[in-house]
Amino acid sequence: MSQSIIQLKCFCNNYPWGRVGKESLAATLCQRTNPDFRLEDDQNYAEMWMGTYPELPSYSMEGENLQDILNKNKERLIGQGVLDKFGVDLPFLPKILSIAKALPLQIHPDIELSKKLHKQDPEKYSDTNHKPEIAVALGKFEAFVGFKPLKDIERLMNLEPLKTFVPPNTPEANFQDDTLKQICRSLLTASPDQARSTLKSLKCTSSDELGGQAYILDLIPRLESMYGSEDNGNLVALLCMNFLVLEAGSALYIPADGIHAYLTGNIIECMARSNNVINTGFCPRADRDDIDLFVNALTFKQHDPEEPMLKREKSEKSTKGKTEVFKPPMSEFNMLVTELKAGEGETVKEVGGPSIAIVVSGSGMMGAQDQEFEIGEGTIYFIGHGIEVKYTAKDDLQVYRAYVE
Ligand SMILES: [Zn+2]
Repeated sequence: MSQSIIQLKCFCNNYPWGRVGKESLAATLCQRTNPDFRLEDDQNYAEMWMGTYPELPSYSMEGENLQDILNKNKERLIGQGVLDKFGVDLPFLPKILSIAKALPLQIHPDIELSKKLHKQDPEKYSDTNHKPEIAVALGKFEAFVGFKPLKDIERLMNLEPLKTFVPPNTPEANFQDDTLKQICRSLLTASPDQARSTLKSLKCTSSDELGGQAYILDLIPRLESMYGSEDNGNLVALLCMNFLVLEAGSALYIPADGIHAYLTGNIIECMARSNNVINTGFCPRADRDDIDLFVNALTFKQHDPEEPMLKREKSEKSTKGKTEVFKPPMSEFNMLVTELKAGEGETVKEVGGPSIAIVVSGSGMMGAQDQEFEIGEGTIYFIGHGIEVKYTAKDDLQVYRAYVE
């Protein structure tokens, strides 16, 4: 294989929180790009993975594993710069997620903790790497991310049914991150009965008592319908975490050890190459990981609903201003977004490393290396380093492209 543009065939997993059948964008996009994929009407389709992570790798249309292709052509496809930094395994993993109900309440351990956990239990923690991630909304997207401002949590925790979760002898005006940490632990260790009765009394709280947080009352029945009233995730998410609603095109950034639980929507996600996760709520009790491990790893850096929001910036790779970039801090990847109206064109300058591009809507042509490729919803390409790419839109076209350099 001599070309540096490789069309990919990707696959979906079937986590139970995924949308069903044709309702799942992950599945409908997958179906368009992968002739081997059969969409079943009654199956959950959660995530389509695009890349070389061994659990769900991508293939060329001829059926060759992308990682094998990279191994054989590493200088040409990955480039020496990225090879020196990250080696031959793609350091990032983009995914399309279609979320019908909450994903487990989770954190991704930082590098230090990942190394330790991997040593203790390599089967469960398969990676020694961190996993910062970004999530770009492809429509309305709801998520619990980071912690609320302390004063908002303190206000709630002063309500009668919640006082029991506050560590005794917390002096007023001394409600700190450490207080919050202890509250998280007591909310997560509450018995099923206590979790249920607390949620029930919260339901009977008036919106006045909740101050600016009356949205909690609307969310309670929705969360109950997902994992029941005994799930400890309900309490942590409602009382302690920011509830964010994103419109299409907006993005979130989750740092290592950042608490998050995505609630509903279709998103494109990208993360560093790792699959490590510590789960504590929004999942069957038997699937929950150690609560102390979770609580001790928590970071309390994000305390404002604005903090997790990741702004789009102008990309210097754009020649006509139609391509912007998401640049998450402290991570191995960036994500370009090219958006064209019918008839418009854009040339994206060379990227100094490997990239993966997916068309999420529209159709048109992609030109690279003196070749022309017809592109449409669901077409996915690996693009080797140092390649200039030209897009022309037949109808409104949206291309996301994750890269490292
Ligand atoms: Zn995550």
